[in-house]
Amino acid sequence: MSNFNELAKILAHEQKSGCKNSSVIGGVEKFVENWAQRTRNAENGAGVQQVLDALNGYAQAEPTQRNAMIQRAVSAARQFDTKPPRPAAQPKREPPRPPAPQKKSPAPLPIELRQENSPLPASEPIPELDEDDEPIPSQPMRVDFGLDAPVTKLQGVGGVKGKQLERLGVETIRDLLYHFPRDYRPVKKISELMYGDNATIIAQVSHINDYKTRNGFHITDIVLMDPTGGITAKFFKQPWVAKQLRPRQFVVVSGKVDRDLNKLSFKSPEYEPLTRELQRLLDTAHVYPVYPLTEGVKAKWLRATEREVVRFWADKVVDPLPATLRHTAQLMPLNDALREIHFPSSMGRMEDARHRFAFEELLYIQLGVFRQRKKWRQEPSRPLKIENDFLARYEAGLPFPLTGAQKRAIGEIFSDIQDSAPMSRLLQGDVGAGKTVVALAALLVAVMNGTQAVLMAPTEILAEQHYKTINNILPALAEKLGIQPRVKLLIGSLRQKEKLAAQQEISEGHVDIAIGTHALIQEAVRFQNLSLAVVDEQHRFGVGQRSALRQKGYNPHILVMSATPIPRTLALTVYGDLDLSILDEMPPGRTPIMTKWLEPKERERAYMFIRKQISEGRQAFVICPLIQESEAIDAKAAVEEYERLSNEIYPDLRVGLIHGKLRPAEKDAVMNEFRDHTVDILVATSVVEVGIDVPNATVMLIEGADRFGLAQLHQFRGRVGRGAHQSYAMLLADKSGSTSDERLKVIEQTQDGFKLAEADLLLRGPGEFFGTKQSGLPDLKVAQLTDVKLLEHARTVAQEIFERDPEFSQPENQLLKKGMNEFW
Ligand code: ADP
Ligand code: MG
Repeated sequence: MSNFNELAKILAHEQKSGCKNSSVIGGVEKFVENWAQRTRNAENGAGVQQVLDALNGYAQAEPTQRNAMIQRAVSAARQFDTKPPRPAAQPKREPPRPPAPQKKSPAPLPIELRQENSPLPASEPIPELDEDDEPIPSQPMRVDFGLDAPVTKLQGVGGVKGKQLERLGVETIRDLLYHFPRDYRPVKKISELMYGDNATIIAQVSHINDYKTRNGFHITDIVLMDPTGGITAKFFKQPWVAKQLRPRQFVVVSGKVDRDLNKLSFKSPEYEPLTRELQRLLDTAHVYPVYPLTEGVKAKWLRATEREVVRFWADKVVDPLPATLRHTAQLMPLNDALREIHFPSSMGRMEDARHRFAFEELLYIQLGVFRQRKKWRQEPSRPLKIENDFLARYEAGLPFPLTGAQKRAIGEIFSDIQDSAPMSRLLQGDVGAGKTVVALAALLVAVMNGTQAVLMAPTEILAEQHYKTINNILPALAEKLGIQPRVKLLIGSLRQKEKLAAQQEISEGHVDIAIGTHALIQEAVRFQNLSLAVVDEQHRFGVGQRSALRQKGYNPHILVMSATPIPRTLALTVYGDLDLSILDEMPPGRTPIMTKWLEPKERERAYMFIRKQISEGRQAFVICPLIQESEAIDAKAAVEEYERLSNEIYPDLRVGLIHGKLRPAEKDAVMNEFRDHTVDILVATSVVEVGIDVPNATVMLIEGADRFGLAQLHQFRGRVGRGAHQSYAMLLADKSGSTSDERLKVIEQTQDGFKLAEADLLLRGPGEFFGTKQSGLPDLKVAQLTDVKLLEHARTVAQEIFERDPEFSQPENQLLKKGMNEFW
C-alpha cells in the first residue's frame, strides 16, 4: 500500500468515526508527522508540507472544522501522488493485467481508496481488499498514560481481552511492546516452496474439497494457486474451514511445508483472508511474524494490535543502554530494534534487533550476578588459619597422592578461606575426578580452627555416601593432623529421636562436621559457630539454595561442588557470582569406558555380555529408566525389573535391588553386599546415580537411555571404570531408530564431561539441562544460553560498568539499574 493510501485510509477512518481524533494512537497530528517523515522525498516536499499544514491544530479544532481539515489534507496529498500505477511484474504468458478496480469508500467519505498495484503475483489480480473485520484497536489521541499502564487503556482492548492477554504474561502496554514474535515465516511463491520450509504464501483459493474418509474423518482440501503454481492445504477434522473460505478468495497461508505422496502440501496451516492491512505488512517485511498466542487472542488481531502499538509506542520508550555503550557494543537503538523485531524490514535487521535484546538480557544477568557477589562479600566471614605443613600432613594421611589439579584447587580454596571476605567458590570436576578429598581438606581446616563445618548433599544416598567415605579415610588423616573430628550424619529418614539428638549436638557445638541433605540442614539446624559450608549440588543448581544459609544469619565460606561439568556459558550465568576451580585431571589408572548405544532388539546380546563379564569375576549395574520424577513410581518399576532379571534372565546369579524407597538400613545392606561381592548384579533406579564406589563393577546397562541427558548418562557410567579392568556402558534405547540421534554418537565417542555438557545444552536447552524447572535464572526472552561469545561480551561490558559505578549512581546508569531490577 502506498503512503498515500495509508494516509487516506487513516483519515477516512477518522471521518467515519466522527472526527474524534481517535483513529490512531497518539492522534492525527502525530500520525501525520510520522507519515510526513516517511513520505517526504526530493520531489514531493511541498505537497507533504501542504498536508501537514492542512491538519495543523487538528487536536484543538472543533469536529466540524476537523472534517474540512481532512478534506484539505486529502486533496493536497492526492495532488502530489499522481504518479501512474506501475505495471506489476507478471509472468509472460499471462494476459495483461486489467486495470485495478476502483471502489468508492462508504459515504460520507470524500476519499477514494485507490488500489495500488500489488507487487505480489497472484493467479488473478488481487482485487480491492476488504478491511479487517475485527477492528484494529485504534488509539486515543490524548495519551495521559504511560507504557506501564494496563493494556486495557488501549482502545479496543476491553476487560475480557485484558484477561486473555494476561495468560500471555501481557498486562501493560510495555508487555505488549515486548511480546515478540516467536518465528518469522518468509513470504514465498508456491514454486519456491521446499519440503520442510516454514513459509507463508499469498494465494487464491482455487477450489475447496470437503469430504469424509471411509472411517468418518472429516477432511478439507483447500487448493491454492498463485501465478507460479498450486498447492493443497489439508485440514483434518476442522469442518469449519470450508465454511470460512470461498473459491477465488485471496488468502495468506502460513505453516510448515509437508509432503503427501510426493506432492508438497500444508497440513492444517494457519490461514487468514488477505486484507489491506496484511498486504501492507507483507509488502514491507516480506515475512509473516508469528506471535505466541493463547485462547481468545487470535493471530490476526494480535498482529494488527502489535502494529498499532509499535507504531505509536516504540518511539516513546527510552533506551536504558547508555549511548556510549550502545556505540562501542554496536547495538541497534531500542526504538528501531522494537520496530524491527516485530515487523522486520529485512531478516538482517531482524537479527540485529534480536542481537540487541539478547545482549541486553545477558547484560542484566551479569550485572545482577556481580551485584549479588558484592552483597555476599560485604559481610565478613571468619578467616581460618592454616598451618604451613597442613597440606603435606594431609596428603600423607591419604591412601594416594593428590593429583596436580587437586592440589591447585586446594590451594585456591585455602587462599580464600584465610581471608575475611567470604569464599564463594565453585569446584567443578567430572565424575570421579576426586572432589571429595579436596572438600575434606577445607572441612578439616575448619575443624582445626575450632569451628564447625557442614557438607550438604542433594540426596540422602549421597549424604550417606559422603559420610561413609569420610569416615573411612578420616582415622589416618586425623592421626597425621593430630585431631579428632566428630562427624554426624543428619538425614530425613533417621528416626525422630536420633534426628533431634543430632540437631542438639550440632547446636551445642559437639559436632565438628555435619553431613546431611540440603533441605534438612537448611531447615532444622542451628550451628554454634559455622565457618564453612560445602554444597554438593550435582546438577541441582540454584542461587536460592546457596543464599538460604546466609539468610539464617551465618556467613560461612561457601564451596559449591558440581559433578556435572557445566558449560562455560552456564558457569558464567548460573554460577557467575562464584570463583571457579576446575579439576581437569583424573586420578591415574582410569581406562576410558567403552560405550555402546544399543537398539531394543539388542537387549539379549547385552544380557549375554553381562553374563560373560560376571563369569570373569566382575559385577554389573542395571539402571532402570526414569519414568517420572517420583521415587515411588520409579521404585515400583525397579522392583519389576529386578524380579524379571532375577527370575527369568539370571536365575543362577545373585541379583540385588536398590531404590529410593528403601529404608537406609536396607540400602546399606544392599550396597554392602554389592561392595563385598555377594551380589553380582545391582538393579538400581536413577536415584542411585552417584552413591556407589565399587571398583570391581565393570559393566553398566542403562535402560531407557534415550530419556536421559548426556551429562546424566555420563554420570551413570562414571560408576564403572573405577578399577583396573576395562569397563563398559551399554545404553539401551526405548525406541528403535533412536540410534540416529546425534546425542548417542557424542556419548559413544567422548569421555569428556565438559564436551558432553556442552552438547547437552545445545541439543536440549538449559531447562532440560538442569533437569529441574528452577534454574534460579530469570526468564530469557531472546538470548540463548548457548551463545558463549555474546555472553562473554556482555560479561565484559557488565564488569566495566560495575567497576566504574558499583552503586549505579551515575545518571546514565539509572535506567540500566531499573532494567536490571525489573529483570531479576
Ligand atoms: P567425585 O569428584 O566424583 O566426587 P570422588 O571424590 O568420589 O570423585 O573420587 C572418586 C574416586 O577416586 C574415589 O574412590 C577416591 O578415593 C578416588 N581418588 C580421589 N582422588 C584420587 C587420587 N588423587 N588418586 C587416586 N584416587 C583418587
Ligand atoms: Mg562426589
